[in-house]
Amino acid sequence: MICDTSSPLEGLGKKMKYIKYLALTFLLFSPTALSNTWNDISRLNPELVGEIVQVTDESDVVNILKTIPSGKHIVISGTRHSQGGHIVYPDAIVLDMTKFNKIKSISVEEKVIIVQSGVTWGQIQTAVNHLGLSVKVMQSSNIFSVGGSLAANIHGRDPRFGPIIETVRSIKVALSTGEIVTASRKKNSDLFFAAIGGYGLLAVILEAEIELTENLSLIKNTKQINIKNYAKALTKEANELALHYVRCSFVKGKNYLRECYATNFKEIDGDSVVSKLIPEKHVKRNKTLFDLSRKSQLGKEARWSLQKNLLDKPDKQSFIDRNPAMQPPVKFLNYNSTKDTDILQEYFIPLENFSKYFDSFRQLLVKHDVNLLSITLRYLKENSESYLSYSTNDMIAAVVYINIGMDKQSISSAQKWTRELVDLSLEHGGNYYLTYQRFPTVVQFKKAYPGWKDFMIVKCKYDPKEIFRSRFYDQYLRSSYLQHSQKIKPVVNGGIGCPASQEGD
Ligand SMILES: Cc1cc2nc3c(=O)[nH]c(=O)nc-3n(C[C@H](O)[C@H](O)[C@H](O)COP(=O)(O)OP(=O)(O)OC[C@H]3O[C@@H](n4cnc5c(N)ncnc54)[C@H](O)[C@@H]3O)c2cc1C
Repeated sequence: MICDTSSPLEGLGKKMKYIKYLALTFLLFSPTALSNTWNDISRLNPELVGEIVQVTDESDVVNILKTIPSGKHIVISGTRHSQGGHIVYPDAIVLDMTKFNKIKSISVEEKVIIVQSGVTWGQIQTAVNHLGLSVKVMQSSNIFSVGGSLAANIHGRDPRFGPIIETVRSIKVALSTGEIVTASRKKNSDLFFAAIGGYGLLAVILEAEIELTENLSLIKNTKQINIKNYAKALTKEANELALHYVRCSFVKGKNYLRECYATNFKEIDGDSVVSKLIPEKHVKRNKTLFDLSRKSQLGKEARWSLQKNLLDKPDKQSFIDRNPAMQPPVKFLNYNSTKDTDILQEYFIPLENFSKYFDSFRQLLVKHDVNLLSITLRYLKENSESYLSYSTNDMIAAVVYINIGMDKQSISSAQKWTRELVDLSLEHGGNYYLTYQRFPTVVQFKKAYPGWKDFMIVKCKYDPKEIFRSRFYDQYLRSSYLQHSQKIKPVVNGGIGCPASQEGD
């Protein structure tokens, strides 16, 4: 006879463990499974928040800020494509800005648009296309909110511009007190330079006044390049290009990150045009193919072959207008596996160091057997206006799309090789993009973003009670500041010791 020797209480303990496991699994794998769970697109940062508020009017934001109980925090959320705990904080009030999305005005003469911050670039494209206008700087895709884009100080594919801050005239924000103010290069400039690129830690961006350009017809041309000469050659022609990117082979083997193609778009002389904006097609087909490439070498070969023989075929000239060229397919990337996920990373390297850097970069990816799904390179003009600026020189941006497991071991391995990649970038005078996973160390963060101290001084001025808080903030900015301020004076009242002093290390 087999006896069950466990006590009823042990049985209950096991059941509780099982229920806890189920609840955690649910929490982890669904972006909004529970009403109070909030997560980003990578699904690696689930958090139980206090409340999720769908903002539809300015007064929603002001009322919350004016009545927020002491000890409560606010985290601001756009379309949730940042991936490093920027939009989550335990027990916080989440301001979901996605329905705060009106286009307030468009001036065709001045080529300027004023929008509420929940508007996406897709909405803006639709609104300005029939006026023959187009966005100057946005991401490669149009799915992101303007608020999220400003808070990350994003950059795009037009090599004549640096990050988006260059195209912003002013922003209207709600401060932590609930007061509404305008910030620009002339008025409250410290707030302007901290809120843009400030990851929602200074104020709620309500509206933005953004410069537009003409929607012109472009000639598209793809050519194979020698990656060793790429950065140098690009310096000469960057100003003549309207859009530019490079793709390199992600198929393991002798051509891995060696076989590269530059796709350039040049403006054709003529008037601005109204384009046909067609919704994304073949999503299911592209999704299936992309999934195969996650899982196998054969899938990668098939995708790369399609890429260079169909999508961006070398030495084949074609014509496209700026607006359609700035809405490439992206929906096929949506992925919901419970075992693995896709993450993005981006490294910015000064032009003169890029060639040397790229050899070592390739070697590190090979050494760690990283499941690379794509790489694109872009040109980014210097702009250091934002306190947390990454475009500190004229840079080449290397954007990598990578698949990783969601288990503890895979994540810790990804963290390890990411730190090596960040070190490599820092050794070459570069840095990395803050909008992705919190894998880099605090020391690496401080090296890459020396403006963090000045940023914290502005944070202390406008949000001394740390109403705006996030996992990202705690891990990097807050911890750096606490360490720093303890060196120069004791932390007061258990807070972070504002106002800050500029003395010290
Ligand atoms: C597939 C993919 C492609 C990408 N391509 C590019 C690219 O080409 N170029 C590039 O530069 N980046 C790129 N990114 C990164 C992306 O631009 C940033 O993560 C951006 O922040 C996403 O915008 P969002 O609306 O999803 O913002 P969210 O992720 O929702 O928020 C990002 C940050 O903005 C803050 N925020 C949001 N709204 C407001 C507001 N109204 N006021 C104040 N703060 C606010 C949040 O608190 C958070 O800190 C890409 C990301 C993905 C996943």
